[in-house]
Amino acid sequence: MDDTFADLFAGNESYAEVPHEVAATGVARRGLAILTCIDSRIDPLAVFGLEPGDAKILRNAGARVTDDTLRTLALAVATLGVTRIAVVQHTDCRMAASSDADLRDAVAEATGVPQPTFEPLAITNQAATLRDDVDRLLTSPLIASGVVVGGLMYDLRSSRLTAVVEPRAAS
Ligand SMILES: [Zn+2]
Repeated sequence: MDDTFADLFAGNESYAEVPHEVAATGVARRGLAILTCIDSRIDPLAVFGLEPGDAKILRNAGARVTDDTLRTLALAVATLGVTRIAVVQHTDCRMAASSDADLRDAVAEATGVPQPTFEPLAITNQAATLRDDVDRLLTSPLIASGVVVGGLMYDLRSSRLTAVVEPRAAS
């Protein structure tokens, strides 16, 4: 067998040797969803003091609210007990260090496709982007009224979270 994922199977072997408690359903125990970045330096469960079963964790480049984020959160709210959503950006984010044009060029170079048409969603102002993304969730017809949404910033160096966009309830 191809050994591309051999390290994963080895890691899983150790993991599976120890019994793990699995909740009866996929409902988020703390009624929480967190949207954060894919940056490998963020360990969401540890950062927020969570355990498996506590929360829905969504990750994408830059912690951006996209169509698929909305799809997933709409379902998490409607079927999996989510009543509060934290959008969490972080310091030293790659998506805040480049322009859309640069990121599109990087994909063009990697793929050989000269003009990729996708939107990288680069971030020029993290606080402003957090406000916009929180607003997009609060005003989305897919997110039930009463769901509380806020925007946070995580500092990779100090490990501290700060509130950037105060939590508000969707109307
Ligand atoms: Zn990032």
